[in-house]
Amino acid sequence: MRERITKALFSKVDSIFITSRAATALGIALWTVWVQDQAFNLLLVRGLLVAFVLHLLLLYLFSHWKKFSRDWFYQGTAFFDLAFITTLAHATGGFSSGFYLLYYLAISFGAFYYNLRFGLVLATFATVFYTIANHPLPEGAYPGELAVRVALFWFSAMAVGVISRYLKASEERLLRALDTLNERTSELERSQTQLETMYETSRALGEIHNMDEVLDEILNITRRVLGYQTCDVLLLNAQENRLFLKAKMEFGEKKIYKEPVGVELEGIIGRVVRTGRGERVFDTELDPLYVPGLRGARSQMVVPMTARGSVIGVLAADSRNVGGFLDKDQKTFSILANSAAMALENASMHKSMEEMSIVDPLTGIYNYRYFSAKLDDEVKRSRRYRQPVSLIMIDIDYFKKTNDRHGHQAGNVVLRELVKVIERCIRDTDVLARYGGEEFAIILPQTDKRDAFIIGERIRSMVAETIFGGMRGIPEMRTTVSVGITTYPENGHPEHEIVRVADQALYRAKGSGRNLVCAI
Ligand code: GH3
Ligand code: MG
Ligand code: MG
Repeated sequence: MRERITKALFSKVDSIFITSRAATALGIALWTVWVQDQAFNLLLVRGLLVAFVLHLLLLYLFSHWKKFSRDWFYQGTAFFDLAFITTLAHATGGFSSGFYLLYYLAISFGAFYYNLRFGLVLATFATVFYTIANHPLPEGAYPGELAVRVALFWFSAMAVGVISRYLKASEERLLRALDTLNERTSELERSQTQLETMYETSRALGEIHNMDEVLDEILNITRRVLGYQTCDVLLLNAQENRLFLKAKMEFGEKKIYKEPVGVELEGIIGRVVRTGRGERVFDTELDPLYVPGLRGARSQMVVPMTARGSVIGVLAADSRNVGGFLDKDQKTFSILANSAAMALENASMHKSMEEMSIVDPLTGIYNYRYFSAKLDDEVKRSRRYRQPVSLIMIDIDYFKKTNDRHGHQAGNVVLRELVKVIERCIRDTDVLARYGGEEFAIILPQTDKRDAFIIGERIRSMVAETIFGGMRGIPEMRTTVSVGITTYPENGHPEHEIVRVADQALYRAKGSGRNLVCAI
């Protein structure tokens, strides 16, 4: 610090020092030329002048040398100056010489450049030198005058020393203030950049429609933009009054849960959900409400994700340091949480809309639209890989009668329970769809006619054995189904006729007495 102040405050001192000394030398030289008083020892003065100029030259050369220590040199020259001034005054009339005024210059410079103490040391030496040089006082000289001159040495040392100390202290304070200002400015700039990046990235969140991708991107942002070590994304299930851990990041490792882990609404997280206000735990060991998550976590920050006025979940971050999160962190995290909430809402809306357009609302299985697209795909695949694909069509027998006898609601129960029975008979890779009112279709990839027949027969017999209804005021019912099967390319028909052929098989089963399986 001292070095910096010296540089800032005294950068000009070197040149002033050298210039003023050069001017002094010039002044004395001119003085020796003009003054021709026999009382003065001009030879001594000229000798002194040569010494002074030599010293000045040395000083100039030294000042360009890197290892040159200014402190050392100024102190040295100060004592040289005292000796020089004493000799000069002595040679030019002793007590009556006006050159004693140069003492003030030397003392003041020492006190200013170095410090008050050094100024006082110089004043002491000047007092001793000047008193000895003028001892005994010449005739007619008044001792009080010597005392005044000497007292002024001390006064100039003290006055300049105190002013210099004050100036240095002020400059130090100023530099310190500047340092703090610089730190704050760069901190502000950092926060601003972070906020801008945050704004951009979280805006991009809204353009992702897939739930898993949104979750992944939230974790990416917490790591990349916010630089946090951990992050949990928890979504609220309002019916169950519980949170579900959907995604987690720990030290760069991300995990998106296919089967989310349930978390009770307790502790800090529970309070954030209830109040809708973010919270920070300064020291987890001191907060009784903290529920341990990350091993070794010493501080935590939880902010709510709010969409259209209600809390839909929370974002939580842990740190292994006490007080790892500041107020500004909470603000940035909240911005992310709000964008995340919107994006998650969008994604879930998108998902349900997509499902609505391909899922049958009564039974929860695929509808006709999905079935036709899927059948096209599977037939194409079967052609390319030369593998069979089978299609099973199912129609409930005399369903009109079931409806007439037990009512439409009971009919619906049969439809729903029938789907469950069929699902138990098929594989995960098979695609079950509601083809029409009480007709169902199953696409069986890589399945030949023989296997398809076995599955069709299994469905028929299971249905025939099942008792439908019997709960919540719905009577017990029995029913049967007719099943039509066809397999491409074994059926020898072109691919666009596959549905027609399966229908034909179903028609035959109906015609042959129902509760039958027929394959073409
Ligand atoms: P079969 O097929 O054996 O020839 O006789 P069916 O009585 O089943 O005749 P059809 O297939 O022509 O009749 C279909 C009936 O299914 C007509 C309609 O009342 C009933 N149905 C269609 N969709 C629904 C539905 O969503 N819910 C209920 N409860 N009934 C439906
Ligand atoms: Mg029908
Ligand atoms: Mg029918």
